[in-house]
Amino acid sequence: MRSAPAPTDPDPVAEVACPECDAPVAVSVPDREAEPTVRPYVAAFGDHSVARCSAGHEFWVYYC
Ligand SMILES: [Zn+2]
Repeated sequence: MRSAPAPTDPDPVAEVACPECDAPVAVSVPDREAEPTVRPYVAAFGDHSVARCSAGHEFWVYYC
């Protein structure tokens, strides 16, 4: 009798577009309900992380 594989729960990942060149960038989100919002600038509030596209553009992703 085989045991069923445990349900995997990888970190949810969302795809956002680079604001500079529209390249798709995968960002991890803190939970699957979070909606990543791309901002070209940093604000002093909110959960955010820095993402970088394949062309080297850095931008901020906020979760609301
Ligand atoms: Zn880019």
